[in-house]
Amino acid sequence: MRLLLRGGPGDGQVVTGGGETVIWRACLYEVTTEIAHRQGHDLRVYRHRPDCCEPHGRGAEDRCE
Ligand SMILES: [Zn+2]
Repeated sequence: MRLLLRGGPGDGQVVTGGGETVIWRACLYEVTTEIAHRQGHDLRVYRHRPDCCEPHGRGAEDRCE
């Protein structure tokens, strides 16, 4: 399944994955009910979790917001 990431460092990236959350580099994205249309494909939108960086100490080194 292909996914579109929204927000955070991975904004606009299309990745393969599934489930409740996906990890892009050091960032955590969670599933939404939105579907985006890109190049004839329907992509499930995953959004950047606001709490993804701080609890894991991922801030500065991975350029996370
Ligand atoms: Zn993040």
